Amino acid sequence: MRIPPLKIAVVGASLGGLSAANVLRQLGFDAQVYELFAKGFDKRGGALGSVDLGLLRRIRLGNPDSADRAIKGHGHFYGDLWDYLFQGLPPESVHFGADVQTIADARSDRPAIVIDGDATAFDVIIGADGGKSTLRPFVTQKQPVYSGYTVWRGLVPMQGIDGPPSGSRIVNGIRYETLGFPCVGPDGPLWNCGVYMAMPQTEVAEPTRNRQVGSAMRDIPQWFVPLTKALFGQRNAQFWADCVKHGKVTPHPIWEFAADPVVAGRIALLGDAAHLSSPRTGAGAYTAMLDAWALGRAFNDASSVPEALALDNRAAVPRAKTLNDRSRRAGRAFAPDPRHSVSPTEVLDYLTRSIKALDWAAAR
Ligand SMILES: Cc1cc2nc3c(=O)[nH]c(=O)nc-3n(C[C@H](O)[C@H](O)[C@H](O)COP(=O)(O)OP(=O)(O)OC[C@H]3O[C@@H](n4cnc5c(N)ncnc54)[C@H](O)[C@@H]3O)c2cc1C
Repeated sequence: MRIPPLKIAVVGASLGGLSAANVLRQLGFDAQVYELFAKGFDKRGGALGSVDLGLLRRIRLGNPDSADRAIKGHGHFYGDLWDYLFQGLPPESVHFGADVQTIADARSDRPAIVIDGDATAFDVIIGADGGKSTLRPFVTQKQPVYSGYTVWRGLVPMQGIDGPPSGSRIVNGIRYETLGFPCVGPDGPLWNCGVYMAMPQTEVAEPTRNRQVGSAMRDIPQWFVPLTKALFGQRNAQFWADCVKHGKVTPHPIWEFAADPVVAGRIALLGDAAHLSSPRTGAGAYTAMLDAWALGRAFNDASSVPEALALDNRAAVPRAKTLNDRSRRAGRAFAPDPRHSVSPTEVLDYLTRSIKALDWAAAR
């Protein structure tokens, strides 16, 4: 490596940010991570279906003090993966409760992160701050676009609950689907499940500052369980009723995005800040880790910071676009026309009327 040690700020301490910090510290850089939440995410669910464990190990194990430890198996509980990456870093290099409000001197060679009015300058700033990224506008004016559908995610202790749900139905050319798989949470086994359904943009929330924290809806809409029954039958509806009662059900509207460029001056985006995709791709967190790994390779191979960031941009833009294309292809079944998605209440009404008509016909 030909670049002298750098001081680098990583904004966001989720899977993307911690991956980047691990990789950058392996290169001998002083990477400091800033996270707006007050504490770590080792207890946070749910599960990721597909994770490249080889990549995850390479990201962490280059660190001198990182002994390997087992990673919990399929599906991979988010908190376990997070803790695995966190343990690769000196704890004092991750600053919790640090809300980066803006960047000062964004076009200079020493841009600064601003927290509570205090500016701290760095050689490079990495925006790993997720779907509603604060740093993104310093790099690109492109904005996430709503895909036309939402995944209702359920997380519930496995004990005593028959599951996971499984079913699909096409209603007027639009696919609705419920599925799930088990995972090991901090307090025992869990069902990690989802319902994919079309929903108009007027009924969903904008991207949150943290993809993993869809705030659990205190009031699940009244149509939710009846719709799962009308779409997928009584057994699946019972699962979702149990999930609402004993677990957590949260809506995750699917927003899509691919940054171009991902680098401006000395600010570089990675993870969901650079690309937002459907969970259907199974590759959002994976691509965040890949971004971090590739960023490290770029710094390793280049002889200057601008050269490293140019190398990174050249590889990261097509990576984000490829993921975005996959996400669009996956979404066509759930929302053929994202701008005109049908409301779940309309679907429930339609299905209820159809069922009544069938009952009437059968009774004659
Ligand atoms: C239902 C669902 C299932 C999924 N399944 C999979 C799967 O099977 N496989 C897979 O690879 N991916 C999956 N994903 C995608 C994956 O969860 C995300 O792509 C991944 O979490 C992105 O990580 P990130 O670090 O880029 O961003 P995030 O996880 O969004 O983290 C961003 C971090 O930045 C912090 N932050 C934000 N703003 C600031 C600020 N101003 N200052 C300081 N900190 C800030 C946030 O608090 C947060 O900790 C799934 C996603 C969903 C919704």
